[in-house]
Amino acid sequence: MKIAISGTGYVGLVISVYLADFGNNVICVDNDEEKIDILNKGQLPIYEPGLKEIIERNKCYKRIEFTTDIKYAVENSEVIFITVGTPEKEDGSTDLKYISEVAKDIACHINDYKLVVDIYTVPIVTGKKVKEIIQNILKDRKLNYKFDIVSNPEFLRKGKALYDFMHPDRIVIGSESKKAIEIMKEVYRVLKLNDIPFIITNIETAEMIKYASNAFLAIKISYVNEIANLCEKNDADIQVVTSAMGKDGRISHKFLHCGPGYGGSCFPKDTKALAKIGRENNSPITLIESTIKANQNQKLKMVEKIEKTMENVKDKTIVILGLAFKSETDDVREAPSMVIIEELYQRGAKIKTFDPQAMEEARGKLKHLKGIIFCKGEYEAIEGADALAIITE
Ligand code: NAD
Repeated sequence: MKIAISGTGYVGLVISVYLADFGNNVICVDNDEEKIDILNKGQLPIYEPGLKEIIERNKCYKRIEFTTDIKYAVENSEVIFITVGTPEKEDGSTDLKYISEVAKDIACHINDYKLVVDIYTVPIVTGKKVKEIIQNILKDRKLNYKFDIVSNPEFLRKGKALYDFMHPDRIVIGSESKKAIEIMKEVYRVLKLNDIPFIITNIETAEMIKYASNAFLAIKISYVNEIANLCEKNDADIQVVTSAMGKDGRISHKFLHCGPGYGGSCFPKDTKALAKIGRENNSPITLIESTIKANQNQKLKMVEKIEKTMENVKDKTIVILGLAFKSETDDVREAPSMVIIEELYQRGAKIKTFDPQAMEEARGKLKHLKGIIFCKGEYEAIEGADALAIITE
């Protein structure tokens, strides 16, 4: 099959390489020239273990190419995945501008039947909006090409994205069109052969599945964090508590690890968006509203703990080891480390830090805090330190 992937970020790249591995011809398109240059030079714009090798393999077989030419990508593909970012706006809602841009690009260059696959996490009804955008432009162009929309939310975890793509718990396909569903089954034929369950539903349900799943995991993490806080005050051992809880099959041991709060590009954004959708629909999800607050408090709690232990952090040198929001990634978006560093810095601490992958990303995010020392290794970082905060898994 001929497939285009619009947006070569974390999700787009992982999907591209495996769809190419399945034997499809994949055109990866991005409007960021620098990113495409890097990929064409055989390097990677992101860190994801194992990704480079699979790209090289598929380049070798000429099954994958990278371009900024959206016209070329649209005209030469039957299935177009939209994998652009869906950042959070200041009011907590999802910014759909990148999706709209790609929908317009598709409509401007459509030359035959196209199946448009929405991979991103978006508020319910975005699939319908994408359809409207394409329909309106086709009308203006006086063209009558057929197209279908599918919502196919991705559940990849950063750092384990390659494993997750090949071993998903389920593939969700939401569409009104039988033809579209059949094409999607063909796209994921290898996974179907591997007995992965396929959930076929409408677009709105598919969009809701993603939000409901991510928000549930965020609730679980925050619940354990608050139980951990209570354990600490009562001489109870949270590790034993969660280990015993996890043995209960109804609870499961996953996402039962306490820590400094969840971060990353998904949970914080998705919980806020779902809370907003709930309020807008006059169907508030109070558990999610509380989870968001609990998570913010958890990050600050770590700062309070450090300050209490040291009595005063002013002019003390504090080393932060671990910047990414979890292991095996360079992603520092909404990472607890960012809040902890910012707060300690504002309280007068001198910060030194190291992370094996996320130094560049963190440098960019923390550039407004002058004087932070980014070290070359953990041993260099701890020299002369008053305290060491290990913010890794
Ligand atoms: P990202 O920010 O890493 O990548 C988005 C890419 O889209 C960037 O390379 C950007 O240059 C490109 N882009 C923006 N506008 C474009 C345009 N008009 N044309 C072509 N390219 C354009 O985002 P991501 O982390 O890959 O996430 C993509 C979506 O998948 C989001 O909705 C996210 O919520 C969802 N998702 C992410 C994860 C994850 O772990 N990152 C997991 C599951 C789902």
